[in-house]
Amino acid sequence: MECYSCKGKLHKGKTSYTITRKGYHLIVDHVPAWVCEQCGEVLLEEAQVKAIQQLIEKTDVSVSALVSVPV
Ligand SMILES: [Zn+2]
Repeated sequence: MECYSCKGKLHKGKTSYTITRKGYHLIVDHVPAWVCEQCGEVLLEEAQVKAIQQLIEKTDVSVSALVSVPV
């Protein structure tokens, strides 16, 4: 497997994934990922991408419920 931006070597590692959405920000630590040893580009596998998408969907619902509470 090689880096799509610099063609460097990718190795298995961990990353912190930052999610920025309208109304909230999430940082998930220790996400398994492929990391380029040349440019530091991070590539997630499909399973991790799907898990993060599910997390965003659930959090979107929770956050909109939270902020729509009348004060
Ligand atoms: Zn690279």
